[in-house]
Amino acid sequence: MVDLSFNNYVREMKANTGTPDDFSTYRHQKQQDAPSGDYVYRPDQDALRTLQRLKPLNLTISALVRFWKESWRGELLGHAVKVTPRQFSNLYQIGMECAEELHLVLPPMYVIQNPYLNAMTLGLEDDSIIIIHSATVDHLSREELKSVIGHECGHIANGHVLYHTVAQFLASGAAMLIAWLAQPLRMMLLDWIRKSEITADRAGLICAQDETIATRTLVKLALGSQNLYEQVNVDEYLKQLDELRGTIGKFAELTQTHPFLPKRVKALQLFAKSKYYQQRVLGMESTGGMSMTKLDEHVAKIIAI
Ligand SMILES: [Zn+2]
Repeated sequence: MVDLSFNNYVREMKANTGTPDDFSTYRHQKQQDAPSGDYVYRPDQDALRTLQRLKPLNLTISALVRFWKESWRGELLGHAVKVTPRQFSNLYQIGMECAEELHLVLPPMYVIQNPYLNAMTLGLEDDSIIIIHSATVDHLSREELKSVIGHECGHIANGHVLYHTVAQFLASGAAMLIAWLAQPLRMMLLDWIRKSEITADRAGLICAQDETIATRTLVKLALGSQNLYEQVNVDEYLKQLDELRGTIGKFAELTQTHPFLPKRVKALQLFAKSKYYQQRVLGMESTGGMSMTKLDEHVAKIIAI
């Protein structure tokens, strides 16, 4: 295992193998290069800017960059199959459509064998990969996959990838030795990640262009089953949110990387009613929808813990 303890880190820096500022410069350049979409959930970007100013996280990034390049990336891809125009061409096509919709260059996509419905984007801002679990491809329709891949592209388009990977890195065995990263910082990171999911869900809907498909996909991912989904009443499911409020169990969300799913579904349904989505995405004439500022105020209340 790579020694990622703080003392070792400082030793290496002193030995002139690089300085934390090298990585800060790297990160700032990449973040500034990555323009955020105007559909972004504003508190996501505000929290991201705060994280970027935290020195201890910069130190973690330097360890991460090294670990990613030296071993993690290769380890991840050891059992993965690349998506290309000649292999899983349907997924490739979906990826290209999402990338075009969100104005980004599609990073390499891979399928890995995994029974859980999920997808993720990991890496550095200029060296990221989208990983799709095989079960996701088996259980979801083309339109639903577009929502999932669009969500991942939303993370890329809005500069989320580096800090999402930091969180994965901290949760992995490889980073066990980074004991010096204080718990409040980890909680700040998780708080931002939950906000970033709201932005990415919006990107998923922009790509799928169908509210029913996008919300259905979120519920299917939670259930992990096409068969079970057919028996779920989404309105009934959303009532669980009211049951959750007022219970001590709601605080479990503080340690999660995603807001509880009913909150995500409600936040996405609101976005679908916004002026932005109706005019810019669907091309409707109506101007009756909610402004992005009003929308974000509502969403903040929905996802508050
Ligand atoms: Zn996500």
